[in-house]
Amino acid sequence: MLNQLTITEAAQGLRKKEFSARELMQSCLDQIEKVDGQVKAFLSYDREDALAQADGADKALASGNSTQPLLGIPIGMKDVLSVKGQPCNCSSKILGAFRSVYDATTVQKLRADGAVVFGRLNMDEFAMGSSTENSAFFTTRNPWDLERIPGGSSGGSAAAVAADECLATLGSDTGGSIRQPAALCGCVGFKPTYGRVSRYGLVAFASSLDQIGPFTKTVADTALLLRSISGLDPLDSTSIPEPVPDYTAALNGPIKGLKIGIAKEYMVGGLDPEVNASVQKAIQQLESLGAELVEVSLPHSDYAVATYYIIATAEASANLARFDGIRYGTRVDGADPIELYSKTRGAGFGAEVKRRIILGTYVLSSGYYDAYYLKAQKVRTLIRNDFIKAFEKVDAIITPTTPTAAFKIGEKSDDPLQMYLSDIFTISCNLAGICGISLPCGFTSAPKLPIGLQLLGKPFGESTILKIAHAYEQSTKWHLEKSPLTSSGAKR
Ligand code: GLN
Repeated sequence: MLNQLTITEAAQGLRKKEFSARELMQSCLDQIEKVDGQVKAFLSYDREDALAQADGADKALASGNSTQPLLGIPIGMKDVLSVKGQPCNCSSKILGAFRSVYDATTVQKLRADGAVVFGRLNMDEFAMGSSTENSAFFTTRNPWDLERIPGGSSGGSAAAVAADECLATLGSDTGGSIRQPAALCGCVGFKPTYGRVSRYGLVAFASSLDQIGPFTKTVADTALLLRSISGLDPLDSTSIPEPVPDYTAALNGPIKGLKIGIAKEYMVGGLDPEVNASVQKAIQQLESLGAELVEVSLPHSDYAVATYYIIATAEASANLARFDGIRYGTRVDGADPIELYSKTRGAGFGAEVKRRIILGTYVLSSGYYDAYYLKAQKVRTLIRNDFIKAFEKVDAIITPTTPTAAFKIGEKSDDPLQMYLSDIFTISCNLAGICGISLPCGFTSAPKLPIGLQLLGKPFGESTILKIAHAYEQSTKWHLEKSPLTSSGAKR
């Protein structure tokens, strides 16, 4: 089945003319038709536009002289990325019938490399959440167990890859929103170093933390996509003029002698025993591949979640001010502008978004700014310094991606604090601005649910963690397991 291929396999098949880009796209559309009624990863998709793009790719393939690395590869988009002419709702009601007027830089780059960009993938409203239960439209289901959440906020992006509805997707990660759902759905998810990938065309949640990154079935596919979307962009002043390496070329070669740090603060209580056992096994596996294990300390880890929920909410309260009923989407009329704003925002935003805006406004208010926001900025520096110090000794740091496997729908939705704690291992990476990857490292036993391993890397250390992740993946078979929804559990 073509929809089950990796990007690397599909790109080869297309060049050898074993099948066409239209057939590949059609096979993804068929799978969506077959399973998305249950998975609910897609908010919408434009079948005609996707097939027309695929036909364009087939023309380029027929000419035989295209070297575009992603030519004809279907890639799905989280509903927070602008794709010209397509809806962009951030899974919120407030954007109404809004359609994007330009392509995000990442979308432009994927198109330049030949990809077929399609679909709007479900998420927590404005990327605030860890389960997609905060989507204003519906909750996406985990393809491994439809009664469970796929993670979030990029839950649709993760579930679509896990259910073989597209070969890869893009998501955004502010505190774990790529790595956490990737772990819970059993795929690979990557959060690049802050500034590695342009945020132009990404609807902002917390601008100093947001990064765009890929979801794929293998580490090699992540390397391909990361190379495509990375690089300096004059339209995002926080993107950094660091050359983009050939991440694929960097994958191979032994990891012997590389130093991998184990943070003692991360192997904490509250960690599910099966998750812990899988991560310990993965650590042993890396050691047997020649990596050297070194204990490191990240002493300010305990403060990460609290620090994040001050900084992220502060930035969100400012960023979301633009959704006022005047500039975009939905408008609820009022007697005067103030009433119009408050009615529009009251009706348009969901409960979690309102909670964040209120919290963020509070921590920025003049009487509390020093006590909360300024203090949080200082703690953020301490957290970053912990990592910089640890990375003087090691090439990467290994942790579980999440404390537990996927939880049941509804299990944590009434308890925001419990929900916030599901990002305990992913949040520091965003505060420190470093890069991180999650990849499959095992399953729980009953029910069978994926477990993710996280590797954190130095600023612009993408190549190193990809190489370690690739070596681990190639020495295990976890990435070959298929969810029950995809072709009766058949292996690729
Ligand atoms: N779950 C975290 C939050 O709700 C992270 C979200 C994200 O990375 N976008 O803020």
